[in-house]
Amino acid sequence: MDVFKDIVGQNKAVSFLENILEHGTASHAYLFTGPDGVGKRTAAISVAAALNCAHDGCGSCPVCVKIRNGAHPDVESIRPAGNSLKIDQIRGIGQSIGLRPFEGARKVYIIEDAHLMTVEAANALLKNLEEPPPYVAFILTAPGADSLLPTIQSRCQEVVFRAVPPRFIQTLLLAEGAAADEAEIAMALSGGSVGKAKRILLGGASGDLRTMILDRAVEIGEGNIIDVFAAKDALALLVKEKDKGEGLSVETEALVILGSWYRDLIVLRETSDVSLLINKDREPQLAQAAERISSDKAAAALDILTRAGAALRTNANKDLVFEEALLAVNSALPTAARLEG
Ligand SMILES: [Zn+2]
Repeated sequence: MDVFKDIVGQNKAVSFLENILEHGTASHAYLFTGPDGVGKRTAAISVAAALNCAHDGCGSCPVCVKIRNGAHPDVESIRPAGNSLKIDQIRGIGQSIGLRPFEGARKVYIIEDAHLMTVEAANALLKNLEEPPPYVAFILTAPGADSLLPTIQSRCQEVVFRAVPPRFIQTLLLAEGAAADEAEIAMALSGGSVGKAKRILLGGASGDLRTMILDRAVEIGEGNIIDVFAAKDALALLVKEKDKGEGLSVETEALVILGSWYRDLIVLRETSDVSLLINKDREPQLAQAAERISSDKAAAALDILTRAGAALRTNANKDLVFEEALLAVNSALPTAARLEG
């Protein structure tokens, strides 16, 4: 179905969905699981469109376009406000679920990052999931099924979205005309997300983020505390400007990018092989930093960032986890001033 044409590298999930949609056997609740940025949200919107489109999920009729633009009265997206999805956000479902669709055939509730539901919110949702009217469909998204209450899991059919293999992303970017070195950097930082790789390439939110983080990598790691907070504030500005609809955590991305810096430092010190660097365009800066930072210290920094990345995937205060990670990296490394002076 054309409605799925923008989803790349998820053939298994997409053919499963096409099959149930073509046969009209869609169940009333699905759980799309997989890493951030692999197309779960786009797929959920596509399913909502296919359920309401009169032209076999064409992706281009007024109904499909309206749903894609978030302007259809029968398709509602609910996403976390801040760090959690609260009961007030779920209560609205209980109030509207009994009303028949206004324009379409099916009423679709898309609940993004459902693992961030509070227990109260999850229990409120459960009541709606138990016996929804026949015209209702729920689509939940989450990193994994086990991040949800078992009672929610058991009422949803899981559809697994996988991280896209890096080489697939690289090939795709090259086919679309990207320069080889840029495609390689975007691939390495994409985390298996085609959308993210493209944004890094185009210098969109992710590209800006990479520039910002790498420009400040030395200050964050080896500067004073004021530099660390300045970097954090600059990031906060980017978060505000970022398209909320991307479904990606800026903090997670920032940790991955900063992690790639320390990974490159280790590679340079241990192998001196520039071809193995992720951030090839930053080689001069990396070479300077590698003179000051031992492999052990870089490995300690990388470890802090990796653990913080794992903490961000749970229902933690993202801002606080990120700040603590930057401060921990900073105190694990020697200060540039001390070494140079
Ligand atoms: Zn259509």
